[in-house]
Amino acid sequence: MRGHDDTAEVRIDPTDAHAVVRRPVIEVEDVWKTYRTGAFEVDALRGVSCTIDAGEYVAIMGPSGSGKSTLMHILGCLDVPTSGTYRLAGDDVGSMAEEELAHIRNRRIGFVFQQFNLLASLDALRNVELPLLYAGVARPERRRRALEALERVGLIDRVDHRPGELSGGQQQRVAVARALVTDPDLILADEPTGNLDSVSARDVMALLDELHRSGRTIVLITHDADVAEASGRALRILDGQFGDAVTAGSR
Ligand code: ADP
Repeated sequence: MRGHDDTAEVRIDPTDAHAVVRRPVIEVEDVWKTYRTGAFEVDALRGVSCTIDAGEYVAIMGPSGSGKSTLMHILGCLDVPTSGTYRLAGDDVGSMAEEELAHIRNRRIGFVFQQFNLLASLDALRNVELPLLYAGVARPERRRRALEALERVGLIDRVDHRPGELSGGQQQRVAVARALVTDPDLILADEPTGNLDSVSARDVMALLDELHRSGRTIVLITHDADVAEASGRALRILDGQFGDAVTAGSR
C-alpha cells in the first residue's frame, strides 16, 4: 500500500502519456462511526480503511444494515467519523467546519441517489445548473456547462422537461448530468439503479461505465452483485467492516 504523498502528481513527466498516476482521491483510515440513541450505542462502522485512486470505479457492496449508507454519508462529507480519518483528494475532512464541508459537497463531489432527488418544479436544464448556481457561476457559463452535461448523458432533446415529464431512467440521467457538471473529484452513486426497471438500469450503468472510461472516479454503493460486477473493484462490507476486496469486472 502506498503512503500519502501530495507530490505524486508533480513527479510525473507530463510528456509521458503512458505514465500511471496513482493519486488517491479517497483515503479512509480506521474509521469508526457510533450512533447513540438513548442508552443504546450502535457501531455502524468498525475500523474501516480503504484507498481509492483517481480514475478507479469501485463498488461498495453489502447487505442491508451493513453500514453502506453510513459510509456513503462519510465519503460524501454529509457526516463525519466518530474516530479515524477521511481525506478527500488529500484534504482531511475531519478538521473542516460545516461551511467548508458544504463547499466540498458542492464542488468536489457529484451525488447520484436512488430517489434521483431532482427538484420537481425545475426543468432538466435548471436542475443541472443548480450546483453551479450555488457555486456562484455566472448564468451564460452555467447554461453552457449544463447543456454540455445534458448532451453527455444523451438528453439534449429533453432540456426543458420537468422531472414529472421524464421516465425514471431519464430522471436518473439528469441526476448524473447534475453530478458531472461541477467536474468533481468524485462521483458518489448510492444504489443508482434501485428505483429503475432493468432496461433503464442498464442504461444508467452504461453511462457510469462510459464516465469511468473517460477518467472519472466513481464510487457506487449497492447491495446488487450484478451492479457491482460493472465496476473494476468491489469492496464488501459486513457488520461495519470490510471483508476481502474482490476484482469485479474485467477492467
Ligand atoms: P446499510 O446502508 O448497509 O443498510 P446503515 O449504514 O444504514 O446500513 O446502518 C448500519 C447500522 O447502523 C444499522 O445497524 C443501523 O440500524 C444503524 N444506524 C444507521 N443510522 C443510524 C442512526 N441515525 N441512529 C442509530 N442507528 C443507526
